[in-house]
Amino acid sequence: GRASPPLAALSQVLRLERSRRTAIVFPLQKLERYLAPGTDTARFRLFQPGLAALQRAEALFRSDRGHPIDYVSSAVRMDHAPPPALPEVCFIGRSNVGKSSLIRALFSLAPEVEIRVSKTPGHTKKMNFFKVGKYFTLVDMPGYGYRAPQDFVEMVEAYLQERHNLKRTFLLVDGVIGLQKTDHIAVEMLEEFGIPYVMVLTKIDRASRGLLLKNVLEIQEFVKENTQGCFPQLFLVSSVEFSGVHLLRCFVAHVTGNLPTVEAR
Ligand code: GDP
Repeated sequence: GRASPPLAALSQVLRLERSRRTAIVFPLQKLERYLAPGTDTARFRLFQPGLAALQRAEALFRSDRGHPIDYVSSAVRMDHAPPPALPEVCFIGRSNVGKSSLIRALFSLAPEVEIRVSKTPGHTKKMNFFKVGKYFTLVDMPGYGYRAPQDFVEMVEAYLQERHNLKRTFLLVDGVIGLQKTDHIAVEMLEEFGIPYVMVLTKIDRASRGLLLKNVLEIQEFVKENTQGCFPQLFLVSSVEFSGVHLLRCFVAHVTGNLPTVEAR
C-alpha cells in the first residue's frame, strides 16, 4: 500500500514544537490571538478534546486485520444504499471544495481505501459508502454545482430525509472563498429538514491569516444569526498540511457515539 503522508498520524504531530503542533491540531484556536481584545471566543472551543480522545479517535481511522476500513458500495438511489446498520456521517459540498482530498486525508491511515471520484461532466453522480470496522459508515455525497440536475437534488434530499442512522452532516465550505450561493442553498435544505450539521472550512493553507479570520468571523456570525441545526464551532482543515484533520476525526468518532467521554484539554 501507499505510505501515509507526514503528519497523518498524531505521533508525528507530537514531535513538532508546541506552536506548530497547536496550529495543526487546533487551527481555529490558533487564530484566537489575532482577534480584537474582548471578542467572545466561546465558539472557538466548544469541542476541544484532550490527547487521549484524539488518540482513541485516530485508532478508529487506522485499519488493521481486525479492523477493516473499506469502500462498501455506491448508490444513485436510496434503495441501493447499504442497510442503515451503523451510525453514519455524510460529507457534502460543491464540486471542487476539497471533499475528496479531505476524505482521503481522514482515511490516510487506511491506505488500502480507494476514494473514487467521478468528476467527468455527465458522469453519473453517486453516493459512496465507506465502512469503518463495526463502528460507523461515512458517505461521500456527490459534489453539487450551481445548476444541479433535478435527479441529483432529489437523491440528496431523499438521503438526508430518509437516512435514520445519519448522525451528522459535514457541509464543506471553501475557506478561501467563504460562503457562496450554492452553499446557502445547501444550508437552507439542511435547515428545512432539521438535520444536525457542521460547517468545515477547507483549504485553509491557501488563505492568508487575515482572509481566513475574516471568513471565519463572517461565517460564525451567519451561523449564529441564521441557523438552528448548525454546530456553532467551525472546523478548519487543510488536507495538504493535515491541519484540523485529527480534530475532525475525533469529532466524527464523537458524533457517531464511538468516544465514551471526551475529556477537555
Ligand atoms: P472535490 O471536487 O470537492 O472532491 O475537490 P478535490 O478534493 O478534488 O479538490 C479540488 C482542488 O483543490 C484540487 O486541485 C485539490 O488539489 C485542491 N485542494 C483540495 N484540498 C486542498 C487543501 O486542503 N489545500 C490546498 N492547497 N488545495 C486543496
